[in-house]
Amino acid sequence: MKKLLYILVVLIGSSAISQSLYLHCGKLIDTEKGNVYTNQTIIITGNKIQSIENGFVTPKNQDDKIIDLKDKTVLPGLMDMHVHMEMETNPKAYLEEYTLDDADIAFNSLGYAKRTLMAGFTTVRDLGGTGVNVSLRDAINQGKVVGPRIFTAEKALGTTGGHADPTNGSKKELMGDPGPKEGVVNSVEDAKKAVRQRYKNGADLIKITATGGVLSVAKSGQNPQFSLEEIKAICATAKDYGYHVAAHAHGDEGMQRAILGGVKTIEHGTLMSDETMELMKQYDAYLVPTITAGKMVAENAKIEGYYPAIIVPKALEIGPKIQNTFGRAYKKGVGIVFGTDAGVFKHGDNGKEFGFMVEAGMPAMEAIQSATITSANILGISKELGTIKAGYIADIIAVNENPSENIKTLENVVFVMKEGVIYKQ
Ligand SMILES: [Zn+2]
Repeated sequence: MKKLLYILVVLIGSSAISQSLYLHCGKLIDTEKGNVYTNQTIIITGNKIQSIENGFVTPKNQDDKIIDLKDKTVLPGLMDMHVHMEMETNPKAYLEEYTLDDADIAFNSLGYAKRTLMAGFTTVRDLGGTGVNVSLRDAINQGKVVGPRIFTAEKALGTTGGHADPTNGSKKELMGDPGPKEGVVNSVEDAKKAVRQRYKNGADLIKITATGGVLSVAKSGQNPQFSLEEIKAICATAKDYGYHVAAHAHGDEGMQRAILGGVKTIEHGTLMSDETMELMKQYDAYLVPTITAGKMVAENAKIEGYYPAIIVPKALEIGPKIQNTFGRAYKKGVGIVFGTDAGVFKHGDNGKEFGFMVEAGMPAMEAIQSATITSANILGISKELGTIKAGYIADIIAVNENPSENIKTLENVVFVMKEGVIYKQ
């Protein structure tokens, strides 16, 4: 009896698994070659791409299903290498640091995660929150809630009073003296401990704040905030755990230390000199532009009372410079990987970044590649994601127009599949 039941389970199980989806794609973008093909069929079984065939292939089994995307352009799920899934800008954001519990943050993040996925972003790198982002990642992976695949830095590392010191702006009585456990580092020993604590807390990578930041309650948005020795210790320790390191940086000196110290990505890169661009190439470091955030922060700073007063001049000065720096870096041949800093602006608007990149001189296809194959490379998942190919995981989206002709179509993603499951159609 037990044996019969077992056979039955195997039979039902296998018939469920063998049902395939046939995606009829009017246009299909090959992100590896940078080509657009017409009239293709992607065959998907379970969470994997089985094959890609020329023309519109009719399924062999009656259980199989055709998905009609004949008037769409189909491409791999997009990846944003700089988001903050725990927060979203609003005039009360600074007060919320003292009023929201982790549970409140968690419930808020569900909406942000869903919006991100529906915008076509099937994978993101979360560059810092309180640690709720680790639980969110797990809940999404376990299928409990809907959202993109998350690679998280958990809590960003900073120095005392620096951009990621969680007590900046508090009254002194509440400031305390946070240390490596809370992500605040002031020595080589602290640096090692802070990285190991992130491992213990479940991070996938490390984020540091190599310079001051626009949105912290502090005077400078660009001064260096780590010593070279501290950054080297962070990167070396991170390597022990298979982590790469991302560095927030606006000022040039802090950026140079970060590159020399061994970070993989420079976030924002606002005041990057030509010399630093050469250093980026030499050390194989990538720039994550976040042009959208720069523009939105400068816009919000014009609204009376939106940010604390100490932030306004930094936002007005630094924000608008990012796009120009990106254009210069691209022309100099610096590696670019797509990232927006969503959370600093509305989650789900991530696709706007593409238009800004193209406006600054990057060809549309290269902008798409920066958000697919290059991102997959940085995350170490290029053998399974970032392109539509037999054997790869089925993260697939579609838009109404060919984005290599109209990049803005990526702001309106009409079809979203992640791991073979359709979330938007
Ligand atoms: Zn950020």
